[in-house]
Amino acid sequence: MPPDAPTSEDPVLTGRCYCGAFSLSASAPLTVAYCHCADCRRVSGAPVSAFAAFDPQNITITPAPETSVTVAPGVTRWFCAKCGTHLQAHYDYLPDQLYVPIGLFDDATSLKPESHSHSGSKLPWLCLTDTLPQAEGSGRARLSGAGASRKT
Ligand SMILES: [Zn+2]
Ligand SMILES: [Zn+2]
Repeated sequence: MPPDAPTSEDPVLTGRCYCGAFSLSASAPLTVAYCHCADCRRVSGAPVSAFAAFDPQNITITPAPETSVTVAPGVTRWFCAKCGTHLQAHYDYLPDQLYVPIGLFDDATSLKPESHSHSGSKLPWLCLTDTLPQAEGSGRARLSGAGASRKT
């Protein structure tokens, strides 16, 4: 069995876009991270975003998303063509991961963020009282190693 294959200990997370045209099924999140960057802020319309990272083989979006947009170099984002929901993002510097906004899942209770990315771009009035690690920039070092402990 490949090391990344979901096990029975990994519950299946289900979700959908706002209008329901797309449904999601995923398991074994590698990590969950807040992102404070201006790109995520713009695409979400929210002051901060939170994403769960998955190995591409552990996430299924039905039907397969076809509408993608690249604005920031190296970042591809897919959307529901009907309601505009941001379905997933891919970062060229994290080639083996897909990032899904946690608000798409029916129950995000288990998707507790483990870090803050781009905290250097955080809105100054947003008060963080958690003790999670923060990365001034992309946090790619931490994120690219996400899930490593699962693989050993
Ligand atoms: Zn939709
Ligand atoms: Zn971001």
